[in-house]
Amino acid sequence: NRKFHPDDSVIEIGPGVRVGGQKLAVIAGPCSVESQEQITGVARDVKTAGASALRGGAYKPRTSPYAFQGMGTKGIDFLMEAREATGLPIVTELMSADQLPLFEECVDVIQIGARNMQNFDLLKKVGRTSKPILLKRGLSSTIEEWIMSAEYILAGGNPNVILCERGIRTFETYTRNTLDLSAVLAVKQMCHLPVVVDPSHACGKAWMVERMSLAAIAAGADGLIVEVHNDPKNALCDGAQSITPAQFGDLMGKVGTIAACV
Ligand code: PEP
Ligand code: MN
Repeated sequence: NRKFHPDDSVIEIGPGVRVGGQKLAVIAGPCSVESQEQITGVARDVKTAGASALRGGAYKPRTSPYAFQGMGTKGIDFLMEAREATGLPIVTELMSADQLPLFEECVDVIQIGARNMQNFDLLKKVGRTSKPILLKRGLSSTIEEWIMSAEYILAGGNPNVILCERGIRTFETYTRNTLDLSAVLAVKQMCHLPVVVDPSHACGKAWMVERMSLAAIAAGADGLIVEVHNDPKNALCDGAQSITPAQFGDLMGKVGTIAACV
């Protein structure tokens, strides 16, 4: 709450890498880790384009139990190799408290996905760590519910929370979700935590990602988390919303221009 904490929080996610404050943070990478070559290759490409951190799921929350569920611990190993190769901090989703000791040891930012935003037991457990937490907005959550979920983590003693707007369910089906950019302004007025926007899960369409990213920055987001895949057509998860490294490079060439205007 701004009443008790008037200044914006700045969260350090790696040596010299911060989310919040003056500089935009752009987290990029594939939906899922698929192989060592894939994740390290994408990591090198997004680093060259100016990304500040690498994303990649090792444990995936899939609608169908028959869909690719992620590589699990092998995926974490590959993310660590990609970090070693590029120096980029790694961001990956925690689905179960069983994996918390592994994540505490190996990853730089623990993502709590939209589907677990109100898994209060998980929130309490990550609240007892000091790892930065990327807390995605729930599929159908109000801004207040989202902030209260962040409060669970803060109340547990972990001040390192980054909020992530990733679109909400509405009656509209043209896009995967409806990107609520006004939530960025609302949250930043109500609380001190940094907010990043995920245009990929919000829109579900790769061709919309660049414009919606620029709109998010114009709305005052502290950064972005964008799905980037080396071969979107053959991605094991979320290919339709993934941009290529070349498209990511184009996007990065434009973000600074918008950021300089706001
Ligand atoms: C993801 O980031 O790959 C993901 C599953 O996101 P969300 O929880 O926002 O659906
Ligand atoms: Mn995804």
